[in-house]
Amino acid sequence: MKNETLRSYRVFLIDVDGVLVRGGEVVPGAVEGLAKLQKMGRVLLLTNNSTRSREQVALNLRRSGFSLRAEEIVSSAFIAGAYLSEHYGSVRVWPLGEEGLDLELASAGHKLVSPQEAEWVVAGMDRDLNYDKLAKALLALSSGGRLLATNEDRTFPTADGPRPGAGATVGALTGMGYPPTIVVGKPSKIAFEIALETADCEREEALMIGDRMETDILGAREAAIDSAIVLTGVTRSEEMIVASAAPRFVADSILDLAEGRFTETN
Ligand SMILES: [Mg+2]
Repeated sequence: MKNETLRSYRVFLIDVDGVLVRGGEVVPGAVEGLAKLQKMGRVLLLTNNSTRSREQVALNLRRSGFSLRAEEIVSSAFIAGAYLSEHYGSVRVWPLGEEGLDLELASAGHKLVSPQEAEWVVAGMDRDLNYDKLAKALLALSSGGRLLATNEDRTFPTADGPRPGAGATVGALTGMGYPPTIVVGKPSKIAFEIALETADCEREEALMIGDRMETDILGAREAAIDSAIVLTGVTRSEEMIVASAAPRFVADSILDLAEGRFTETN
């Protein structure tokens, strides 16, 4: 049984956009696919989304039929909070992003402060980004605050085509002369390390499942974690897969992967 290969993993790290949902719609078969993987091992969703809290992400996915709890969500906002705690303890932060970022930083024990008081500016996607916010960020950064980027995704797909991602926020700050000191979301190794810590497992025990070569697959490879690409998201055909960053498995969808319909590379 091909499925036995998958059963050798204890933890599945799963991307959200392009794997479980796409442009606000559930990917066909994804609810069943996820449920099957949840029977084989522990599932954690590893997503660069920084706009919602883990609770909100889980709630939204439950409304779509997925069975998920907040503890199973490893978002870039959560990773940012965890990274700062691990390396610097509780810090004073000024978040430049949406509500979910504030919530995750606060729940990690950090203190949300004014721009002048901030040790760290934590930047994420912000659909209300404006000149005033950029001026505040500049104040924080020119007063000695360091910049942590939740991720640098340029765009994200929607039903109406691509929309600006966190890369737009980070790019604006970089354009003012303040590039990030650190980036914690995929493809950063930090994202994968914190996911492994959250799952309490070794890298050999985990499989990353994603749709994007340059974040999910490349990042997993650099963290020495096996990966599987599914073709329900941005990577449309196997031809787009660069041999140098080949994932271990290729499947048409997460359901195909879970049911053993995949090809194994090399
Ligand atoms: Mg994706």
